[in-house]
Amino acid sequence: MNWGLKDLTSLELKSMENKELVLENYLNTEGPLNGYSHDDIGDDHLFTGVDTPLKPNAFELTDNKKKERIAHLFAQIMDVMGLDLKDDSLKGTPMRVAKMYIDEIYSGLNPKNKPKVALFDNKYHYNQMLVEKDISFYSNCEHHFVPIIGRAHVAYISSGKVIGLSKLNRIVQYFAKRPQVQERLTNQIALELQSVLETEDIAVIIDAKHLCVSSRGIKDDTSATVTSFYGGKFNTPEKIQELYNYINN
Ligand SMILES: [Zn+2]
Repeated sequence: MNWGLKDLTSLELKSMENKELVLENYLNTEGPLNGYSHDDIGDDHLFTGVDTPLKPNAFELTDNKKKERIAHLFAQIMDVMGLDLKDDSLKGTPMRVAKMYIDEIYSGLNPKNKPKVALFDNKYHYNQMLVEKDISFYSNCEHHFVPIIGRAHVAYISSGKVIGLSKLNRIVQYFAKRPQVQERLTNQIALELQSVLETEDIAVIIDAKHLCVSSRGIKDDTSATVTSFYGGKFNTPEKIQELYNYINN
């Protein structure tokens, strides 16, 4: 299949032009930027809220329709950059990217992919903190769409209920598989854990490298970003120290 520009009918081109016009208007709006430019927002990694900004109709299209649309549009990007989509090596790229976006690296946008969590009674009466450390994850920066690679440490103190350890891992992966900023990723994981574990007593620490900082922009290859959330009983200097002792052990 050839996803190049030549395949578009004039009607499709017209509708695309209209869409591009809408997008252009959107990009030109001032919006709640608090005096920051779009570039400032990207390069300083500012973000606007704890919820991933999604359109109300975000899941109207089926996954297959989304893949078709993305493949089509990604072919346009490649075409505009001057790449020859007839080349055997490039031909399949638009659809490969589309499948990867929907089925893998951005699958956490869709609530249907949220891990189902079963709660169990805390029969062992274990009442100290439980720390699951060094959960490795891959995410992508929502400002540049390049990888964020990191480790998450999550901890909770049982309110009488416990969950399977692998679920902590799955919840981290679910929220990582979205266009993200690290602060939001941290808070989304923490709020989800508070909700499923029915307790305020949750801590999340994320230590990550952003490829938009190392491979472009400021091009700093050694820095890493650390973010944290300390809820309920974790929000004391003693508990935070105890948590760091576990993590650094
Ligand atoms: Zn970025």
